[in-house]
Amino acid sequence: MAIALLGFQTTIAAPLTLTGIGVHSGREVSITFQPAEAGTGVLFLRQHDDGSTSEYRAVSAHVGNTDLCTVLGTNPARSIATIEHVMAAIYALGLDNLIVEVDGAEMPIMDGSSEVFIDAIEQVGITNLGVKRRYIRVIKPVRIESGASWSEFLPYDGTRFEVEIDFDSQLIGRQKWEGDLTAETFKNELSRARTFGFMRDVERLWAAGFALGSSLENSVVISDDDTVINVEGLRYEKDEFVRHKTLDAVGDLALAGAQFIGCYRSYRGGHKMNANALKALLSDPTAYEVVEAPSRSHQVRAREFVPVQVSEFAPWSA
Ligand SMILES: [Zn+2]
Repeated sequence: MAIALLGFQTTIAAPLTLTGIGVHSGREVSITFQPAEAGTGVLFLRQHDDGSTSEYRAVSAHVGNTDLCTVLGTNPARSIATIEHVMAAIYALGLDNLIVEVDGAEMPIMDGSSEVFIDAIEQVGITNLGVKRRYIRVIKPVRIESGASWSEFLPYDGTRFEVEIDFDSQLIGRQKWEGDLTAETFKNELSRARTFGFMRDVERLWAAGFALGSSLENSVVISDDDTVINVEGLRYEKDEFVRHKTLDAVGDLALAGAQFIGCYRSYRGGHKMNANALKALLSDPTAYEVVEAPSRSHQVRAREFVPVQVSEFAPWSA
């Protein structure tokens, strides 16, 4: 299969600021995307009230909690939560280098999807930095299992996701999204899919002090009799659910710290499975290689990419 891959590192063309509420804290939070030099990767900076800053590269090694969302850092007083929808937009648009400043403990939830982040980035534009981009190419299958759930990476001449969910709910049931990931497929088929939850779980989370910012403005909520409470219904007929799970997987795998070439498949997965599968891949040096485009060409097949020395550039490590 022929794929078009832009072989050069990028950053955002100008700073941009967004304001929204954190889905867990319910507090207003402001984020600013700043352009960054080649080789920076995606760097999150949390500004604290006392003037200090916490800094995390958006890489697998810095992932702390993955229970309700994906969190960078292990200390709740210093960590940054709910990065996955922002990371999915950054990854899908091919933004390699970016500084994400945030003045609170989590990313704003916006409408529960990646759409606002995609639109904002596209409005300011993306700059080609003229430095070759490194990719992680899967060269051997890596699989993890947990109960009935499993996730695996397979070699593939492109970037592909095959995500399947299976809920004990008539409304959701078993759904699958599969496709090659490009900026266009992400924008058209995944980016608008919202976070979803069951009313009974939302009530339980509220009681425990979580999901305080969760509302019909940013979540698809399913009632106890298995119907969508939101008056506007679903954005994608029937399968907005699996599309959102795929969006989450894109954001979680973006923590490879580089674009990946391979196929990611998961069944009944979630943030924890995505994070663990990525750790399993990156902890096995025989399972992947770091490659770059062979020439100053913008149209190359993934299999023509050439290996490079890992020691030169290892963005997924701390
Ligand atoms: Zn999500």
